Amino acid sequence: MSAIEAATLPMLLTELRLPTIKRLWQALAEQSNREGWTAERFLGALCEHELNERETRRIERHKVESCLPPDKRLSDFDFAAVPTVSKAHVTALCEGDSWIEQGANILLFGPPGVGKTHLIAAIGHGLIERGYRVLFVRTSDLVQRLQAARRDLRLPAELAKLDRFDLLVCDDFSYVRRDQAETSVLFELIAERYERRSIALTANQPFSGWDHVFAEPAMTLAAVDRLVHHSTIFEMNVESFRRRSAQAGLAPPAQKQKPTSKTKG
Ligand code: ADP
Ligand code: MG
Repeated sequence: MSAIEAATLPMLLTELRLPTIKRLWQALAEQSNREGWTAERFLGALCEHELNERETRRIERHKVESCLPPDKRLSDFDFAAVPTVSKAHVTALCEGDSWIEQGANILLFGPPGVGKTHLIAAIGHGLIERGYRVLFVRTSDLVQRLQAARRDLRLPAELAKLDRFDLLVCDDFSYVRRDQAETSVLFELIAERYERRSIALTANQPFSGWDHVFAEPAMTLAAVDRLVHHSTIFEMNVESFRRRSAQAGLAPPAQKQKPTSKTKG
C-alpha cells in the first residue's frame, strides 16, 4: 500500500464507523505480513474484532440506558432469605428466550425491604448480558412522563419509545396514587404492551389493594387481567432483609454496606 493510501485509511475507517479496525489494523497488518496470512484471513480477523467489540459496546450502551441499580446482582442475592423464590427459576428467567419473546410479565409482591427491587434488577442485568434491552423506572416517574407526553399530544410517540425495551421494570407500582387521567396512561401502557413486550413490576400491596392505583374498579380488573395472563408471580412475604441485617448487628442500610457472609443461610 502506498504511503498516501495508508494515510487516508484512518479517515475512511472513521467514515465507515469501524473504530476497532481503525485501532487494530496496523498491528494486525504487521502480524499478517510477518506470519504470511492470506488476504482472506487478514480481512476476516479485522471483521471479527470489529463485530465482537461492536457487541460489547452495544451491551455497554444498554447497561447505561437501562437505569438499573448497578450493584443489585444475582451473585449478591441471598436466596436462602426468600424460600418462595427458587434460584434455578430466576436463573432461567435471566436467559430471556421464550417468556420475553411472548411479552410475558414478572410480578413481585411483598412488604418493603424483602429484596423485590434487588431481584428484578438482577434479572434485568442478566437479560442485558443476553443482548436484551431493559428499562428500569419508578412507576411514579413513569406516570409523570406519560402524563406530560399526553398533555403534549405525543403519548403514542412516548409509548413507541418504550417499545424499544424488551422489558420495562416498573418499580413500586402500588405506591402510585393518582387521578383519573394519570391512571389511564398507565392502563394504556399495559394494554399497549400486552402479549408483545414484557413488563415487570414490584408492589407492596397485592392486587386486592390496588383500588387506589386505578380509580375505576373495572380498569383495575382489566389491567390486572392483562398483567397476570402470561406471568411469573413471586410472593416474597418474608421479613425485611434490611431489618434482619440491622438486627444481626450490621451497618445500617444508609451506609449501603453489603451483608457479610455471616448473615447468609
Ligand atoms: P424491596 O424492593 O422489597 O423494598 P430491596 O430490594 O430494596 O427491597 O432490598 C432492601 C435492601 O436489602 C437492599 O440493599 C437489597 O440489596 C438488600 N436485600 C434484600 N433482600 C436481599 C437478599 N435476599 N439477598 C441480598 N440482599 C438483599
Ligand atoms: Mg423496592
